[in-house]
Amino acid sequence: MSGYDQREGVIWFNGELIPWDDARVHLLTHALHYGSAVFEGMRAYDGEIFKLTEHNQRLHTSAEILDFEVPYSVAELDKAAREVVRANNLSDAYIRPLAWRGSEQMGVSAQKTKINVAIAAWDWGSYFDPAAREKGLKLTFAKYCRPDPRTAPVHSKAAGLYMICTVEKHRAERAGFADAVMLDWRGQIAECTGANIFFVKDGAITTPTPDCFLDGITRRTVIGLAKQRGWKVIETSIMPEELSGFTECFISGTAAEVMPVGSIGDYTFEVGDITRTLMDDYAALVRPARAVAAAG
Ligand code: PMP
Repeated sequence: MSGYDQREGVIWFNGELIPWDDARVHLLTHALHYGSAVFEGMRAYDGEIFKLTEHNQRLHTSAEILDFEVPYSVAELDKAAREVVRANNLSDAYIRPLAWRGSEQMGVSAQKTKINVAIAAWDWGSYFDPAAREKGLKLTFAKYCRPDPRTAPVHSKAAGLYMICTVEKHRAERAGFADAVMLDWRGQIAECTGANIFFVKDGAITTPTPDCFLDGITRRTVIGLAKQRGWKVIETSIMPEELSGFTECFISGTAAEVMPVGSIGDYTFEVGDITRTLMDDYAALVRPARAVAAAG
């Protein structure tokens, strides 16, 4: 089996483009032992990285929350990410910046560790089975909850927070579901293991208030698109038992894009007009050149 370490191409690693195979870290890397890493996930469409600066700003913020500073400015990271896409001859791509504490110190304290930064990119198609665009995703409920903001750095895209997401994604996949919906520590609907969630009822869109999970860049984009259409967007708390009142459901994320949900456990939803319109609006927004060409 050839893994992600076996690919061809170049990776931006602490300021320079190096061969894919050379992008290695040592076993005694602080991040590997103590989760001191933050990352981003962005997508390029037709060679242009969507919301590039917002993602790199979030990388900086995520690091600050984990008490370290990314040693490259947002502008430098923007330039580096564009270089990675170009140098690997990618047009549609997934781009993964990562910042992590190195091996200069072991133990919980990590004050002397070097902060490393790398950016890799690869061709990554649809995150979910594309058939779900028509039928909607089949989701289940997760057992783990998104943590209370007092117990974890919930607004950082920190590698360690994905520990429970991987466990829940596996549990869902083994039971025949595409993903799991996580509640928060209060029992309110929070998000999926790698995407935010929205519901529709009577022409209005409702989504959980992002007070203990990532306020996704795609989430904010979709809210903007919905408002442009003149649709009401309500950010509030949603309890699982309220799901029976909604007719449509969809999720949003850089990797997931906008995907309809057909069911969450026993709650079912239709792939309706609002979801379809937002999927199309998002697809048009991420490829502005095509929209202009089509109009011209
Ligand atoms: N929540 C989680 C847990 C995620 O991993 C992601 C993907 N980064 C999101 C939400 C959506 O964030 P974004 O739209 O910025 O990709």
